[in-house]
Amino acid sequence: MSDACIFCRIVGGTIPATLVASNAYGVAFRDLFPQAPSHLLVIPRRHVASLAEATDGAELGALMLLAAEVARLEGMEDAGYRVVANTGKDGGQTVHHLHLHVLGGRTMHWPPG
Ligand code: 5GP
Ligand code: ZN
Repeated sequence: MSDACIFCRIVGGTIPATLVASNAYGVAFRDLFPQAPSHLLVIPRRHVASLAEATDGAELGALMLLAAEVARLEGMEDAGYRVVANTGKDGGQTVHHLHLHVLGGRTMHWPPG
């Protein structure tokens, strides 16, 4: 837990966020600047800087299952959705606390930018 990390502060409750779901390993909340009709972020409760630093398979598995759960809650299961983990500089990561973007509610394009 780091006071300097905005996502740690969302987990700790000192920065408000619209929480959608949670489990023992992570929390899911709405992205402040949504890039699709549904845009959620799924993050670990503990500070992990990025996917490159992740070591706990149980934690990563729980985060993926939470991503699927929020997609279900958002009603995106049948139409489909996208799960993305921007990682590092070339990956476009701007917040250095591991997060899964869950995007849907419209058709996603490929390749991404
Ligand atoms: P990245 O660019 O690191 O893959 O994604 C970071 C995401 O966090 C962006 O989509 C951005 O809109 C979102 N974000 C940044 N600050 C906040 C915040 O304070 N609250 C919420 N809910 N989302 C944030
Ligand atoms: Zn953090």
